[in-house]
Amino acid sequence: MSAGRDSAVGEQAPAEAAKAVKSGEKVHKATTRKKSAATAATGTSAAKKTTGKTAAAKTAAAKTAAAKKTAAKKTAAAKSAAKKTTAKKVTAGGTAAKKTAASKTPAKKSAAKVPAKTAGAAPAKATAAPTRALKDESRTAMVRRARRMNRELAEVYPYAHPELDFRNSFELLCATVLSAQTTDLRVNQTTPALFAAYPTPEDMAAADPERLEELIRPTGFFRAKAKSLLGLSTALRDRFDGEVPGRLEDLVTLPGVGRKTANVVLGNAFGVPGITVDTHFGRLVRRFGWTEQTDPEKVEAEIAEIFPKSEWTMLSHRVVFHGRRVCHSRKPACGACPITHDCPSYGEGELDPEKAKKLLKYEMGGQPGQRLRPPADYPGQPAPPLAGR
Ligand code: SF4
Repeated sequence: MSAGRDSAVGEQAPAEAAKAVKSGEKVHKATTRKKSAATAATGTSAAKKTTGKTAAAKTAAAKTAAAKKTAAKKTAAAKSAAKKTTAKKVTAGGTAAKKTAASKTPAKKSAAKVPAKTAGAAPAKATAAPTRALKDESRTAMVRRARRMNRELAEVYPYAHPELDFRNSFELLCATVLSAQTTDLRVNQTTPALFAAYPTPEDMAAADPERLEELIRPTGFFRAKAKSLLGLSTALRDRFDGEVPGRLEDLVTLPGVGRKTANVVLGNAFGVPGITVDTHFGRLVRRFGWTEQTDPEKVEAEIAEIFPKSEWTMLSHRVVFHGRRVCHSRKPACGACPITHDCPSYGEGELDPEKAKKLLKYEMGGQPGQRLRPPADYPGQPAPPLAGR
């Protein structure tokens, strides 16, 4: 385009050419001005456009930023909501867990009476939360609680009985003397041979001491025990016509016979109510908060004040049964105990139900009992005879 215009100007006369030049200059100037104006206009327009674009861009950016902010806010809000929801869920879960735990806890702590037929089974009957604070317990409240516990024990151990095998008062007397420092099981495994050799006080009084010692050796402390058996047999033969006396004051005059042994014989061979304070009985009545005494005679006197005489013998059996099966000396099986409700010592022993269940003994733990000849209503298995005898 520019080469064609230059060629046309070069072919005109000088004046005209000058005019043309001037005119051309004017035109050129005008054109330039116009172009400039146009350019300016274009620039302005462009600028305007640019400005517009920039503004639009800014607006868009602002919108984007706003949108981002809004989105961020929404996200944050959503996150916050999610957190709250989670927190609520966690709280709810925690609460639910606590509730579950709470609902499980009574099951753990719950008292469950273990009837004879289901002895050793997991606690089945829930009761109210165990009593703990006994500081302010009145005497009346304690007596009521103690009697309630005795009734509960009677439901758990309706078959409670002396755990020594015996056929008459003389055998029970000898077996009780032998039970010192050993288990009833070991005595029961020992006495069949002893009573086969010496069935009466007269027979035993005439026994060869060494043979007698050998027969009772498995029970431990056999020399001292043999001396007691010889002494009491001789006393029965010489002072009581070969009969076991039915009075406490007479029984305690026999060699090797103390108040505990006398009460066992009176309660179980003569039907005379008696409280037997052995190691199990003493430990449990202190755990139960029935007494704080440690001397057996004082324990006996305080317990006798709480219960009617008619309950004394069976109360003794129930408490001893519970001590041997559940409320052990070192580790009571609290988690499997059927009388937790009224026991202020709940928690002294194993609380986990499964672990506690493993601590149960004899029929409660699915094991043989202590008697080789248990009563007919005993729900467990008889004890085996001593190996080699
Ligand atoms: S101390 Fe434990 S096992 Fe013993 S009676 Fe109390 S709750 Fe039962």
